[in-house]
Parts: sequence; structure tokens; C-alpha cells
Amino acid sequence: LVDISAFDREEISCLAYGVGHGEEGVCLLVQMGPYRVLLDCGMADIAPLLDADRRPCCDLVICTHAHRDRARGLLYLHRAAPHLPIYSSEVTSQLLPLNWLEESEPIPHFAQALPWQCAVEFQDGLVAELFPAGHLPGAAAVLLTYTSPQRVYRLFYSGDFFLSNSRLVEGFHLETIRNLQPDVSIIESNYGTSRHAHRRQQENNLMARIDAALARQQSIVFPLDTIGIAQELLILLRSHHLFTGRDVDIWVDGAIAVGCDNYLELISSFPPSIQNFARHQSLFWDEKVRPCVRRWQESSELGTAPCIILSDRLQPLDRDRLDRLQPLLIFVPEGVSLPGNLPSDFQIETYLLAEHSDGGGTTQLIHNLRPKHVMFVAGDRNYIQDLTALEELQNRYHLHAPSAGTLVPFPIGDTFIQPAPPIDPHYEGELTELDTTIEISLPHALANDSRWHNFSDTGTIEARWQGNEIVLRGISQRELIQQDRYRTARANDRVESCANCRYQRGYRCHQESSPLYTFKVPFDGYCPSFEFLSPSNP
Ligand SMILES: [Zn+2]
Repeated sequence: LVDISAFDREEISCLAYGVGHGEEGVCLLVQMGPYRVLLDCGMADIAPLLDADRRPCCDLVICTHAHRDRARGLLYLHRAAPHLPIYSSEVTSQLLPLNWLEESEPIPHFAQALPWQCAVEFQDGLVAELFPAGHLPGAAAVLLTYTSPQRVYRLFYSGDFFLSNSRLVEGFHLETIRNLQPDVSIIESNYGTSRHAHRRQQENNLMARIDAALARQQSIVFPLDTIGIAQELLILLRSHHLFTGRDVDIWVDGAIAVGCDNYLELISSFPPSIQNFARHQSLFWDEKVRPCVRRWQESSELGTAPCIILSDRLQPLDRDRLDRLQPLLIFVPEGVSLPGNLPSDFQIETYLLAEHSDGGGTTQLIHNLRPKHVMFVAGDRNYIQDLTALEELQNRYHLHAPSAGTLVPFPIGDTFIQPAPPIDPHYEGELTELDTTIEISLPHALANDSRWHNFSDTGTIEARWQGNEIVLRGISQRELIQQDRYRTARANDRVESCANCRYQRGYRCHQESSPLYTFKVPFDGYCPSFEFLSPSNP
């Protein structure tokens, strides 16, 4: 239990009930002057948020967006304290009930909608303003301002944010928050310091991989959350040139189908391109315009042609149905731990369709804000450590990376305490150049990191140049199998596939005109830019 008595002494402080590690969800209690504001309520158990008389710990709640890891405790908090005001954006207030589809009673729209970019005064001197944050329709970043007789205190909370445009929601506009100079910024860090290709490239890559799987007669299952990537994927499949007009069935399962229905009520809040699309054809459900998108029901007939299924991530996959779909490929998002219910005997591949900003986007947001303190939440602990180790951040801001149950004071003004420097993630090694090989020895401490296990899994590594530096990467079991397939495919050198293409080097595509450019390509991938490896071939 956290000692809350220490809470009042600092001018701004944050009690982190949940910081979003693993399945924990995000829930932060912020104290500004005399007020306590709860930012998000992603905890499954809300007991810590109530005192012995079951009074809530806060004066009001702001929910940034309708994802489960930010919202799932809200209904129970609302039931325990019906008079506690809960605020969100208009779209979020409409999407929130999707988090409790298992409840037998109808879920009221208990969150009060706040307008975008309009400062709303809740209590004397306490003001909040919401900014569209990309990531998910309705997702908001929050600026809290408290004005005391002495000074103005400001805290910015990013929620989940994404600078790039997605299909159904525009990216976060940095100019809306440029130079805010808040005292404190609480920033999500789901992708740590990783770097991603442009979002459009990710989309093209995924579409090409789906295309290749269908060409191999494989059906594809995507286990997904109720809202977000599922609807993005449906719009992509219905509008991408590889799929428009194509005779392939797309089935949508369980809660995701309800999520689609909810989205249909929100069309006026979507980007103009989507509103325009919706004027000419149905956004999701379509039996006439191909590819057909249908709601999966028990009675649905799968047919014999390969199909695409979007299935509820939290529901166990129906083994009988999967068997009927063989040969089958299960696509899971990169970096997300595999759902425990995935059958191990199916072919599983990962893909990236980012819904958060990468390391570059995260630092860009922070530099644009110019805060005094930065606190990181959400995402893997190692990823957060990578961010707090960045010199460009360490030199300019006071960095915090609390674990759940920690009280974080943000000293403001002259009484500044320099936080302890984070652990240095650099390792010094030795290089020995032998006749035919090069040996690099590194200190064993490197293996103490929880990421080591994945890195060293097969004992095979890949090295590549990045500017004047060499980057090392562990090769996974799955990739080794893939490489084997590559070798077999290459032996059969009359087949037109990435394995035999002159533009494929190191399993990546080097043809700029290809939709697969810079991506890792499957051995049996294909695109119109294909050319045989050696000119003597057909
Ligand atoms: Zn989210």
C-alpha cells in the first residue's frame, strides 16, 4: 500500500496506481494544489481507489481513450461513486461501453463529453483541455492547469498518441502543443526507442503479405482488440489496390463486430476521406462490393476458398473452426506477447501496423512540449529504460519511470533535486580479428537483461551496418525455419518469388518501386517489380 500522507507536500505529484506494464493498465492519481484528478482507470480491481468509507480518492476522472488498458475499471468506479464526474472526449464517451459487453445490464453513457481544444474550468482554478492525439478515434491528450494565488501549474498527459495519420483517425498535430512548457509531462512509451518505417509502408507490407498467403491458399486469422487495429485493417482491405474488387471473404467475430457497429455511428468524426468513402459504399458490412465483409455467426458457412478472419483477442480461438480453415496463418502484432490461447501447431507470424509513435516520435513530442519533468508510463520496462537512457532527454529534462504503487513528487521552482542518473546501457567489449572470422567478446552482464533470452534463443545472430556502426540482432526459431524455406525455394530457381528475385538481399527488398521496399520479405512473396536473380533464368 502507498503512503498517501506524503502526497500533499509537493506542489504537483503523481501516485501511479497502474503504469501499464504487461496487462496491468494505466491509472494515475495527480495532485495539483488542493485537487486530485484521476487520469485513466485501466485497473481491473478498483478497490485501491476507494477509502474505508468507499469514497473515491479523487475529485474527478479524465479518461483519455476507450482502450481497455485505460478504461476497464471506469464502470465499477462509476457504480461505486455515481456522483464522481468522469470526463472524456465525445467519441470516447460513445465507445467506452464496448469495454463491458459481458455485462447483462445496458451500460449508460456515464462519461461527460468535453469539446476539443477548449479550456474547461471544473473547479476554482482547475482547468482541463483535450487535444486530439491520433492513435484511436476519440483519443485525447490532456492539459491540466491549476492556478494558485502564487503561480500557474501545468501538467500534460499524452494518453496513447500517434503522430502519423491512420485510416480512421488523423495523427496528433504537434503544433497544437508546441512550446507549452508544462511543469510535468506524462508520456506513453509503448515502442520505447524503436524506429519504424513510414505507416503507409507498413500498410503496404502487410497487404502484400496477406496477398502472398492467400496465393498460397492459406486462410488468415488476426486475433485483435475490440476497436483500433481491427477497423483499420477492414478499411485497408476494402480500399487497398491489392484487394478492391477481389473475391475473398472477410469474417468479423464477436466484440469486434459490435465495435464496427459503434464506429458506424461516429462517421461524422472520421477523416474526410473516410466520410467520402462511406457516402459511396458501406464502411464495413458489405455483401455486394468485394471483398465481402460479414459478421461471423455460428451458422456461417466458411466455404472452401481461403478467407480472412478478424477474431476477438480475448476469446479463446475455436479449435474446430481453425482446423476447418487449414492451411492457416495466424498474424499477431509485433511486440505484443502472444495470447496464451494460441494453438502452437499453427503457423504464426508477426506484423507491424503501428498505433503509437516510435522512439523518434516520442522524443519529438517531448522536445516540442519543453517540459521540466518527464514521466514515462505504458510499455515494456526495458523500453522505458532505453528512453530514460537517451542523452538528448537526460540533458534537458528530469526523467521519471515509476513502477506501479509509487508516489512521484515533481519538485518545482528552486528546490530542485537532480534525479539519480539511470543505468548506463552501454557495454564495452573486445574485438579479435582472426584469419577467417571476427570474434567480439562482451561482458556477461549483458545477459542479465530480460531481453537476452529472446536475443540468444537460437545462438544465431545477424550483423548489419548502420552508418559507421554495426547492429547485432538475434535470429529467432521462426526466422531460421523461414531461411530454410528460402534455401529450398531458391534451389527451385524457375519460380517467380522473393527468394529468386534480384532485388532481395538479406531477406529484404531493395527495389524502391516495390511496395515491399526495405521490408523483410517472405520466401514465397511476389510483387510486380520481380526480376529473376540471374539473367540466365527465364
Ligand atoms: Zn490505446
